Amino acid sequence: MKINKIEPQGYCGGVVRALKIMDKTLADSSLPKPIYCLGSVIHNSHVIDHYTDLGIITIEDKGLSRLELLDKIDEGTVIFSAHGVSPLVYEKAKNKGLTIIDATCPMVLTVHKRMLKHLEDGYECIYIGTDRHPECEGVLGISDKIHFVGSTNDVLNLNINSDKIYVTNQTTLSMYDIKLIFDELKKKYPNIEIDDKICDATTARQTAMYNQPDCDLCIIVGDPKSSNTKKLYKVSKEIAGKNTVFVEDLNMLDKSILDNVNTVNISSGASTPPYLVDEIIDYLNKK
Ligand code: SF4
Repeated sequence: MKINKIEPQGYCGGVVRALKIMDKTLADSSLPKPIYCLGSVIHNSHVIDHYTDLGIITIEDKGLSRLELLDKIDEGTVIFSAHGVSPLVYEKAKNKGLTIIDATCPMVLTVHKRMLKHLEDGYECIYIGTDRHPECEGVLGISDKIHFVGSTNDVLNLNINSDKIYVTNQTTLSMYDIKLIFDELKKKYPNIEIDDKICDATTARQTAMYNQPDCDLCIIVGDPKSSNTKKLYKVSKEIAGKNTVFVEDLNMLDKSILDNVNTVNISSGASTPPYLVDEIIDYLNKK
């Protein structure tokens, strides 16, 4: 079987940074205990399990916002995940007397700063993202004046009357989907200021997916909650037109789909531990 490991893949700079912060936090004996992480530090259950074993308590509850999750923490140290949090979450954690460690990716922080600046400068601001994703929640929490757009349909429902309109976006969206939304916005608001903030790591991985060589099967490895991994799957399947599967790890790979497969391309999300890909490659090599 021929296996093409599509590059780049695996941990991006923001994830490496967040995990270093987790390790440093664990090693710092001066920090108040217990140590909590508000939501998953990155979207990968293997990584969360690893840090749980080392003593970091991840507070996660599907359906609760970061602001609501904070009600479950009354003492110690709280780590904010790579996805970022809104200023309200900062404020609430500070008022509760918690020690704050911020693992927000610098790319996400740039989006927060740009959004704040444009709101201060009197712009009507639009944010394109995935509803309820923590990164999206963090940005929308900056102001209730931000208009949320999740699809081209949402653009039709916008009713903005201003000469100064600014739009930016979640860092891990599909570069192909967002182009369609930007085009719709430009049609509706020709003077709109577009600030595409899909991060370089996401762009490079999606471009590599688009340009992947021919194969019988493309395997995308990552957590089902990971936005950037889901987009890699979508680009491979819908844009590159490849026969594609999304698996969390080797255990989740349906081995029966490998019959009659001679060439496999394999990639992984920016939050996927590289050893999970290596385990699948080892398995395929032994077939
Ligand atoms: S995918 Fe991009 S925005 Fe998200 S953590 Fe990595 S570098 Fe930062």
